[in-house]
Amino acid sequence: MMGIIGDLLKGMGVTGRQMIATIFGDGMITTEYPKEFREKPDRFHGRHVLNRYEDGMEKCIGCELCAGACPARCIYVRGKENPADAPVSPGERFGFVYEINMLRCIFCALCVEACPTEAITMTHLFEMSTTNREDAIYTKTELLINEDGSANHMFPDDRLANLSELLQADGWMRATAPQGRVEYEGIPGWTPSAGVGLRPPEVGQSGDAAARDFTLPDDATSPEVQPDEEE
Ligand code: SF4
Ligand code: SF4
Repeated sequence: MMGIIGDLLKGMGVTGRQMIATIFGDGMITTEYPKEFREKPDRFHGRHVLNRYEDGMEKCIGCELCAGACPARCIYVRGKENPADAPVSPGERFGFVYEINMLRCIFCALCVEACPTEAITMTHLFEMSTTNREDAIYTKTELLINEDGSANHMFPDDRLANLSELLQADGWMRATAPQGRVEYEGIPGWTPSAGVGLRPPEVGQSGDAAARDFTLPDDATSPEVQPDEEE
């Protein structure tokens, strides 16, 4: 009996301390969303975008690797041959149809990881509530970044959405170099990823161990082949 009363008093003590801190101090741990938006962590996985190169070309080459990697089977891609006189992407093919069913997506970013051209990346926007299932299927119209670097949303008038977060890139991690070189296996690098244009080499994947801002494991060796020597 005494144990129960002791636990009760302990619990009331925690509640009381939190209440006093909230009223008189800086103990408030909630924000008045949507009037106020909480800053998200760099690695936050929100809505996807399809990126472009500086010249406006689409980065997606319609290879369907993202669809193959997706554990929720929510990506549908159809590739099409690039027209010779007006290619849409630098590859042989481009993403002719691209759809993501956001109701099925678990925001794991495996599609981002699988993409060889950094065409698909994620942003910080998460407001995607819908009143019907059809509106949860994002197509190229919403996903593809515009040539001026802006991004479209399914609900541009959504009062609850902070649309600036569509341009806030996730910082994502690749455990291996884009070229799949074994020297980089297990050496992670972070990079901001949404938007237009080419990004600087990822930290840890430039071939220069001295430039990395992390410590290599004791048994790791610096890559012998420098990027310049590859050409
Ligand atoms: S984030 Fe994960 S679940 Fe969502 S589309 Fe990409 S791979 Fe599929
Ligand atoms: S988004 Fe990337 S992985 Fe998916 S089809 Fe396009 S190029 Fe291939």
